[in-house]
Amino acid sequence: MNAPKKPRPYPLAGRSDTSHTTVVRFPDTDITIGGDKVTVIAGPCSVEGYDMLIEVARGVKASGASLLRGGAFKPRTSPYTFSGLGVDALEMLATVRAETGLPVVTEVIDTRLVDTVAMYADVLQIGARNMHNYALLSEVGRLRKPVLLKRGFAATIAETVMAAEHIMTQGNTDVIICERGIRTFETATRNTFDVAAIPVLKIETHLPVMVDPSHAAGRTDIMAALSNAAIAAGADGLIIEVHPRPAEALSDADQSLSLAEFDALMRGLAPFIAASGKTLVTAGAPRGVPTEPGHVA
Ligand code: PEP
Ligand code: MN
Repeated sequence: MNAPKKPRPYPLAGRSDTSHTTVVRFPDTDITIGGDKVTVIAGPCSVEGYDMLIEVARGVKASGASLLRGGAFKPRTSPYTFSGLGVDALEMLATVRAETGLPVVTEVIDTRLVDTVAMYADVLQIGARNMHNYALLSEVGRLRKPVLLKRGFAATIAETVMAAEHIMTQGNTDVIICERGIRTFETATRNTFDVAAIPVLKIETHLPVMVDPSHAAGRTDIMAALSNAAIAAGADGLIIEVHPRPAEALSDADQSLSLAEFDALMRGLAPFIAASGKTLVTAGAPRGVPTEPGHVA
């Protein structure tokens, strides 16, 4: 099927011409997402403490990641499992950002917490479970900070772009769309990685498109294959779960890479980045001073 001739129903997120590409920038750094670069975000599913966070941040930076992920408020399927360290985790993320220079990505799950999370985070993540939470989309739309929007696990590509449109109607133009697998009848993987979503999203929108192979796979042994495929299909980057001791992870242990596994994945990715005609974004020296004085532990 060719691209539709009628106007797209998402005028802000939709691509009007092939030269229109959104590149998300991070103040006081050379780090970008989108355009002719590949950007890798890595870190634990959940922030479990300062020591593990600084260890993983230093490790993933050395291997080529340029942003740090870490959940502070976790949406958990079971109410009896670890739900994150909350504001304490946000403080740890800000401290580790100051020490490493890595901008931080963390999820916001509640409209009441948007301002709090925005005080600390460089990128606010909207999780798959909240892609249809239009009040939350509007709330992050009022911010002037990038938003990483995960595709809902039962959402079509069009619905995903429409969720980005909800954010953008409030004035926030820095939206990154993330394919993280959809739910199908297949049980060998946690979700089914929809590789076709990448080129379709690139045709439909001018927004950066990232891939989360961790939640797509739910297992570590196929993470490199999925990462390579994502870059080969045109993704602007990856967000990958890494833990210093995966077996001890309090959430998503089965899909968390060790630092050595992540390093091997990054080495294997290099030829795919080169073949796609892009270069890897690398993080520079630590900023030294926090961007939000008073919010660093
Ligand atoms: C996560 O990134 O840890 C997460 C919960 O992802 P998703 O919303 O894609 O399930
Ligand atoms: Mn996770």
